[in-house]
Amino acid sequence: MADITIRSCQCSNCQAGHDHADRQLHHQINLLLSRLNEQQRRWFAALESNKIGYGGDTLLSLITGLHVDTIRRGREELDAELDGRPTDRIRNPGAGRPPGKKKTRPPWRT
Ligand SMILES: [Zn+2]
Repeated sequence: MADITIRSCQCSNCQAGHDHADRQLHHQINLLLSRLNEQQRRWFAALESNKIGYGGDTLLSLITGLHVDTIRRGREELDAELDGRPTDRIRNPGAGRPPGKKKTRPPWRT
């Protein structure tokens, strides 16, 4: 876990190299995401996307490197009150499920 690299934002403003209002925000989004697990990253990106509204998924995809479909799925999960998603623990203690087995996801449709 020591060699976590923080993604640099790929949005056009950050790539252009000049200072802009959201540069620090974009950096801190990636900083935060580097400490979150996969589903938390998805939900946080979804939340930021919701704040932006139209075009949010595309922008968050550029910032975070998550796929737009991943962010959209995160928004759907938030809209569904994270129904069926694990709570604060990544693994339920004592659940006894063998590690490495992928949870089956509901078939999200476009
Ligand atoms: Zn940026």
